[in-house]
Amino acid sequence: MKPIENSPRRQKILIVDDELSNLMVLNEALRVDYHVIAVDNGRDALRAALRIRPDLILLDILMPDMDGYELCKAMKADPVLREIPLIFVSGKTSEDDESVGLGLGAVDYLTKPLNLAIVRRRVAIHLELKRQNDLLSRLALVDGLTGIPNRRAFDDRLSEEWRRAVRIGSYLSLVMIDIDWFKQYNDIYGHLAGDICLRRIARSLTTAFTRAGDFVARYGGEEFSCILPGVDERGLASETSVLGFRVESLKIPHSGSLISRYVTISSGAICCIPVQSDTPETLLHLADVQLYRSKDQGRNRSNVSSVNLDEVPHQVMRKSSNDQ
Ligand code: GH3
Ligand code: MG
Ligand code: MG
Repeated sequence: MKPIENSPRRQKILIVDDELSNLMVLNEALRVDYHVIAVDNGRDALRAALRIRPDLILLDILMPDMDGYELCKAMKADPVLREIPLIFVSGKTSEDDESVGLGLGAVDYLTKPLNLAIVRRRVAIHLELKRQNDLLSRLALVDGLTGIPNRRAFDDRLSEEWRRAVRIGSYLSLVMIDIDWFKQYNDIYGHLAGDICLRRIARSLTTAFTRAGDFVARYGGEEFSCILPGVDERGLASETSVLGFRVESLKIPHSGSLISRYVTISSGAICCIPVQSDTPETLLHLADVQLYRSKDQGRNRSNVSSVNLDEVPHQVMRKSSNDQ
């Protein structure tokens, strides 16, 4: 059966039931407030769930081929689908049935014949919880001071880009950036001015990288990190050389800097073709090595290198920030 769909703007509910009449009743009850997608079997439901990422799934239990329990187990085993709340809607009305359903990870259990007013209220409660959870998840990935992605978001994205690059055999570049003499900046101008400076530099770095896939994060303290998928060493050299100019041309006065009248950054960049047998930590470590070369050479500069991962010892640990 071709899925029935209406407006894509609102929260999305996937309804799964082999009885067309049940699908139509639920669709009628919910379509005014939500984007409803209805399918009549488990396999289509899995495909639809992966494609549309619904906010809630209403799932019948007794269905031929793949029943609701099987489908629920398959969803809970899938890292992408696991977090989607799921409500069983079933003619199996005993308390034991309900207990089994909730035990499989469903957030609620509704029995047929349905009271549509109650269905609408329960659906509204679970969708509000989903909306709040999504909001918290998004906030957990944003740095509170600068509003750009935080360290956690960076770690997630780096693993993702690493896996993608291994799969397609493409370049992956990483830039680590550290503000020069920033302790002195705070000492001279105050912590609040330091915060404003961090925000301005975050914005400047974020707007420096405009290709789809480029990713800039606050790595921690006065350090930033950029992931540049598909960029080779030559591209990386030109991209990083621009960064320093951009930041210095913000002309943020810094009387405590030994290298410039203005706030500057040092950076270290590394390019590689990721391999299955290695990990993103190697890349982080090697970018750090380049960053510390830039610091040792006097600051306000960039060092760029590339590495053949078949030739370095595997699993090199990153120097911890306490060692710096
Ligand atoms: P270097 O050129 O070697 O990098 O010297 P530095 O002074 O920049 O490096 P150091 O690691 O000694 O000092 C980092 C400073 O960054 C100290 C810390 O107070 C400041 N800092 C870290 N996070 C924040 C923040 O959120 N706000 C402000 N205002 N300062 C911060
Ligand atoms: Mg630092
Ligand atoms: Mg610094």
